[in-house]
Amino acid sequence: MEHNDDILTWRGVLQLAQNGNPAPPRRMEISDAQWQVHLTPEQFYVTRQHGTERAHSSDMCTLFQPGRYSCVCCGTELFDASTKFDSQSGWPSFTQTVAPMSSPTPPTTATV
Ligand SMILES: [Zn+2]
Repeated sequence: MEHNDDILTWRGVLQLAQNGNPAPPRRMEISDAQWQVHLTPEQFYVTRQHGTERAHSSDMCTLFQPGRYSCVCCGTELFDASTKFDSQSGWPSFTQTVAPMSSPTPPTTATV
């Protein structure tokens, strides 16, 4: 089996849990009122108010077409469909992110 440095390991998971997610490549400075214009109520709840979709509620769970998944707020590409798998968790699952996550930055208040 070929070694792939981009695959998130348990060490990487633990580093992310301890240090927080890497800073997004760009930060959107927009008020909640402005976000509500651009996002659906559910998108606003999940992305700006720390909400979570109900398990098995997303059509994305059963979507396995080629493509890239990007942040609905800033457009940053997050996942490639080739790394998606059925985890039975009720949420879309991927084995790795588009951008390497091996060098987490210190905690940040930014919300992706
Ligand atoms: Zn974003």
